Amino acid sequence: MPRPKVITVCNQKGGVGKTTTAVNLSAALGERGLKVLLVDCDPQGNATSGLGIRSSDLVSSIYDVVVLGQPLAEVAVPIESVKGVTLVPSTLALAGSELELAELPLRESRLRLALDGIDEYDYVLLDTPPSLGLLTVNCLVAAESLLIPLQCEYYALEGLSQLTQTQSLVKQSLNPSLSLLGIVMTLFDPRTILSSQVVSEVRRQFAEDAFNTVIPRSVRLSEAPSHGLPITIYDPSGRGSAAYRALAEEMLLRCERVAA
Ligand code: ATP
Ligand code: MG
Repeated sequence: MPRPKVITVCNQKGGVGKTTTAVNLSAALGERGLKVLLVDCDPQGNATSGLGIRSSDLVSSIYDVVVLGQPLAEVAVPIESVKGVTLVPSTLALAGSELELAELPLRESRLRLALDGIDEYDYVLLDTPPSLGLLTVNCLVAAESLLIPLQCEYYALEGLSQLTQTQSLVKQSLNPSLSLLGIVMTLFDPRTILSSQVVSEVRRQFAEDAFNTVIPRSVRLSEAPSHGLPITIYDPSGRGSAAYRALAEEMLLRCERVAA
């Protein structure tokens, strides 16, 4: 089997929909029969709890992989209720890892090395913390492509240049094959003029780098994690599910185009 495609969902701004996108896109890809490994690289562990895994039940997590060098396959948990999705969970143990990683050899490449030889998946999705620290750098080094969620709000574009600068630095030094898969606009509220203005501005600035699919603001999307379920199971026929299925479709087309 060829190496899976590794995609990192990244934006150092907090609360823009990284985890919501990582979890629901994984579920939408799994639903289509693809095998997905979702790696929670955020000490907050939102992707972990959002899939119904309690950190108190875990013996090991991504911390043991990136800091202690435990094989990733030993830490991966298949999510029985979500077709095709396996999770590498995170716990608060990861919170101190920025400092620990700084002291370790190959500190920027530890996740990439951990993913070497992981070949039973079609896609690996990495959910990152809201910072540009070493955990996020590990994700950028491990990935072939970057998926940036942007919230449809006034300051959406602020900080984006910092992220693209980090992307260029990583590309120049540690991961020449890193590319931008696309920008997905999230939390779109059709009732506000601002949301539509942000969409127009992002399309003007980023043209086809912006996905056609826009993720609407939906109460169901915000409720789903408290039930430990992706939207495709919590509300399979709602707007949120439709949006993440459309994003999965578009993402697959882009990945095929890159591979061709
Ligand atoms: P952090 O930077 O803290 O990791 P994040 O970028 O991962 O945050 P999320 O956790 O996905 O962002 O989303 C932030 C909050 O907004 C969460 O409470 C989530 O449930 C909610 N949310 C995300 N997307 C939507 C949406 N489309 N509609 C409604 N609520 C949403
Ligand atoms: Mg998050």
